[in-house]
Amino acid sequence: MNLYEQQPYWLMKNGIVSSYPSLQHDLQVDVAIMGAGISAALTAWHLRNSGLKVAVFDKRHAAMGSTAASTAFLQYEIDTPLSVLKNFVGEKDAVKSYELCRQAIYDIADLCKSLKPSFDFHLRPSLQHASFKTHTACLMEEFKLRKKHGFNVEWLESKDVKKIFGFEAPGGLFSADGGEVDAYMLTHALFRDFQNAGHKVYNNTPIHHIEHTKQRVLLLTSNNLTIKAKKLIIACGYESLQYIPKKIADINSTYAMVSEPIDDKFFWHKNSLIWETAVPYLYFRVVSENRILIGGRDDPFHHPHILPSVINRKTEMLKKAFLKKMSHIPLVPDFSWAGAFASTKDGLPYIGSIAERPNTFFALGFGGNGITFSVIAAQIIHDLILGKRNTNATIFRFNR
Ligand SMILES: Cc1cc2nc3c(=O)[nH]c(=O)nc-3n(C[C@H](O)[C@H](O)[C@H](O)COP(=O)(O)OP(=O)(O)OC[C@H]3O[C@@H](n4cnc5c(N)ncnc54)[C@H](O)[C@@H]3O)c2cc1C
Repeated sequence: MNLYEQQPYWLMKNGIVSSYPSLQHDLQVDVAIMGAGISAALTAWHLRNSGLKVAVFDKRHAAMGSTAASTAFLQYEIDTPLSVLKNFVGEKDAVKSYELCRQAIYDIADLCKSLKPSFDFHLRPSLQHASFKTHTACLMEEFKLRKKHGFNVEWLESKDVKKIFGFEAPGGLFSADGGEVDAYMLTHALFRDFQNAGHKVYNNTPIHHIEHTKQRVLLLTSNNLTIKAKKLIIACGYESLQYIPKKIADINSTYAMVSEPIDDKFFWHKNSLIWETAVPYLYFRVVSENRILIGGRDDPFHHPHILPSVINRKTEMLKKAFLKKMSHIPLVPDFSWAGAFASTKDGLPYIGSIAERPNTFFALGFGGNGITFSVIAAQIIHDLILGKRNTNATIFRFNR
């Protein structure tokens, strides 16, 4: 699967950060992790001091899957509003999912602080504004429900949005808890810590065949090497779907662009993360080097190959939609890309095991909150592998 097309900004900005070798011999480990994106890095990092021998294998280069293309908004608000999610999973689990995502933002903040050297992380509030007047009632309902459950949110009338953010919108939900991070660099920083604890990451090592026995899992690489593992973690991002017999997600196409650097006098209230109620939504934030990132204009299907002309057209659409709100900003697109993007029916990730694959755990942070979901997946899988109970696991189970 082509996970993205053209130039994700972080890949261009950071280039090759760390190189890992390919596997050249048979191997026996306690835990094998397939995939070396942010989900694998977080899971590997959580397991680094567990006393288990862990190794990570990627068919490409580490962090060069969807992680490199991610726009890396860290929000606890998942793509399905709380007021809708409660109809899928009940109010208790819906609220718990939101709380876990909020906690995940602060867990990433702590984790970034604990890395040596500490890793750049910013807490940012977020504004979700109503795209149309007809959306205000639902957004207000969402505000009330979140308020009821103790989330730090404020309701903004149309005039408040105009006064604080400078653009027209019928109303908005301002949320205190959010963040942003460079997911590509964070993945490498986590792997550095993981390797320093004595474990290994392998690039260019496609796993072609998986065999499950009662006691262990046998992996066969494309050059016929064997990896024997007591446990397997599948963290292959959207390509994990081929290992699951039932359909759990739809793959769409999404688009993003990053502008040339802009004078920061043009930036808005607390550099908030901004998104809207329309589906698919337009979203934007400030990124490093005083650039503005804009994303959205999704297509409800996955193109195997997206033509440059399509990306150029989507970039124009993103720019136009942004300038409709922020017409005073001299925005010049600099980098543009398209990416595959998976969403589940209820907006929640799938974390845990399926009967067909014994001794195997999936870390599938699908949806707009992929990265906060990956934190939750890493915590749950860490506990399950060590035989500890994790009461949150049932919320994200496959047979929900
Ligand atoms: C344009 C875009 C914007 C996004 N914006 C956000 C956002 O704002 N906030 C957010 O939280 N999330 C966002 N996401 C989602 C987020 O980026 C993903 O959820 C996250 O990067 C997934 O990480 P991963 O490690 O699970 O997958 P990946 O990064 O794709 O890593 C999986 C790895 O598995 C490897 N692999 C696959 N098959 C095999 C195999 N057989 N053998 C060995 N290796 C294999 C791949 O090569 C790949 O490197 C966005 C995604 C895109 C594309």
